[in-house]
Amino acid sequence: MKRRGILLPTVVALVAAAALIGIGPAVPSTDGCPTVDAAGTVSAATLESPVPARACALAGKVVGFGPLAVRVPEKDGEAVTAAGSARTGHPTTLTVERRHGTVRARIWRPGGAPAPRPPVSRMGRAVTETASVRCGDAAGAWLGMRWQSPYRWTMRVAGLPAYLGAFEPVRDAVRAAATSVDQGRNSCGLTADLALSQRYSGETTRDAGINADGTCGDRDDRNVVAFGRLDGGLLALTCLWWSRGRTVESDVRISDVPGLFTLDPVAGCSGSWDLQGTLTHEFGHVFGLGHVSYAEHGELTMSDGLAACSTGFRALGLGDYQTLRGQYGTT
Ligand SMILES: [Zn+2]
Repeated sequence: MKRRGILLPTVVALVAAAALIGIGPAVPSTDGCPTVDAAGTVSAATLESPVPARACALAGKVVGFGPLAVRVPEKDGEAVTAAGSARTGHPTTLTVERRHGTVRARIWRPGGAPAPRPPVSRMGRAVTETASVRCGDAAGAWLGMRWQSPYRWTMRVAGLPAYLGAFEPVRDAVRAAATSVDQGRNSCGLTADLALSQRYSGETTRDAGINADGTCGDRDDRNVVAFGRLDGGLLALTCLWWSRGRTVESDVRISDVPGLFTLDPVAGCSGSWDLQGTLTHEFGHVFGLGHVSYAEHGELTMSDGLAACSTGFRALGLGDYQTLRGQYGTT
């Protein structure tokens, strides 16, 4: 297979991400509470075992892991999940749950290490090239929450990067991605029978509930898709706020790095990602899909690293679809 010119930048991104993820040892303080650093952040690694929420005054504290961070929910029973979608595979899902008076962090690690090989696209540009791989791989992960009411979302016009041109074609690509997940559009000829419901409710001036530093911030009961700054080599970030398995809000931030996305990958594409395919992946998160390892399942739409210059992620692969169906299937 022809190698694309993305090797160097993606290797650099991988190194940068590895440096960010290279967190220090988890050292609890003597009172059994996790240490808060000078920036007011608690390392997620110190919360992998439950810690008393009140005794350690954790409400509102920021829990960080690599480029991801979420704020500890205020109420018992609530949880926040950050799903960062990367140019290359690396650990990118963090959930912080407040439950039975404790706070606990769950970090998703694909085998405990970054992807072992450079992310050269194995998918090619046509779905048909690898449909047999996408449709033979039943892997999937569930984040633990689902929508029990229709997901209605808006999109922010401000912040749209100039290189992408007019708002309307960008919005249409994002809407097409949401529709793909809603309708269970897949590469495998499976008849979709999902009880999902999403609706685009128009433009908004609001921003996603995601802070400038990429932290999942406070929820405002509005589901917003917006462009903005993201660090750590992330293409996009989805934040989910949920309670006892029920999703109450989900916001998506798409990186505004110039030239990162394209609406139409064509011959000569190099180092750009298909916006629609990337957003299909993000809406997968919105509906509760987690990541599968790039190293082992790089052809699936929910792989934690997406190959550049491929439109192959616009639909769902077998594992993506079946995992969704396991939660939202009508039969
Ligand atoms: Zn992702």
